Amino acid sequence: MRAAELAQALESAAIDVSLPGRPVVTGGLHPATQMLRQFYKIWADMGFQVYRSRDVEDDAHNFELLNFPLHHPARDMQDTFFSTEKDIILRTHTSPGQIRAMREYYPEPIRVILPGMCYRHEQITARSEIQFHQVEGLAVGRNIRMTDLKGTIAEFARRMYGADREVRFRASYFPFTEPSMEVDVSCILCDGKGCRLCKYTGWLEIAGSGMVHPVVLRNGGYDPAVYSGFAFGMGPERVTMLKYGIEDIRYFWSNDLRFLEQF
Ligand SMILES: [Zn+2]
Repeated sequence: MRAAELAQALESAAIDVSLPGRPVVTGGLHPATQMLRQFYKIWADMGFQVYRSRDVEDDAHNFELLNFPLHHPARDMQDTFFSTEKDIILRTHTSPGQIRAMREYYPEPIRVILPGMCYRHEQITARSEIQFHQVEGLAVGRNIRMTDLKGTIAEFARRMYGADREVRFRASYFPFTEPSMEVDVSCILCDGKGCRLCKYTGWLEIAGSGMVHPVVLRNGGYDPAVYSGFAFGMGPERVTMLKYGIEDIRYFWSNDLRFLEQF
């Protein structure tokens, strides 16, 4: 081979080392899954096990046994997806798992969280979806008092939102707890001074909670004269929205990679 041919052969086979490499596409966890795992970690550290309950429920577990009698107006708080099978519905909240957990654990003390998807027959808007996650919590035992509920939720809030957070409780109503309380945490953005995120109130709502209603305890098999308990429910998607300033809940299940790849 002559020198000129050799030079040409080398030239044509040359590798351009300045070319950028081909990107390796890797998947990641969905932002909802990431947030659920944060919940699991914090509650596990505080002694709560994960209890899995079914998505397809019957009317008795979703409503009746949780102290929503037939035709009770509180049922209107949760628009329901019914099926063609009588009394078979998609759960509107994770609370039916409370009954299932109690009936399984009785007479042992209970400390569980019940995470899962819930379904509601609602208009889809930036603020409400037909499916969303809830993380429910349930503690049942002897001598469980409201101070235990308040201390437990306040500790969760500090671990999730930062050690300086203040927590306040407001009286509320749920059929399956009595008394019932909403839980607010001081705004993570403005520290309580008032901003757009907290709508200038200084507070962000993070949970519904209360002492387990005696009727619900009895339906779970626990004698309310001997046992007591507390329950709470939280929305992990809402936490993710607050944390990252996401203004539209529809992004979560629209499978748009431009959204999902940011997490
Ligand atoms: Zn604020």
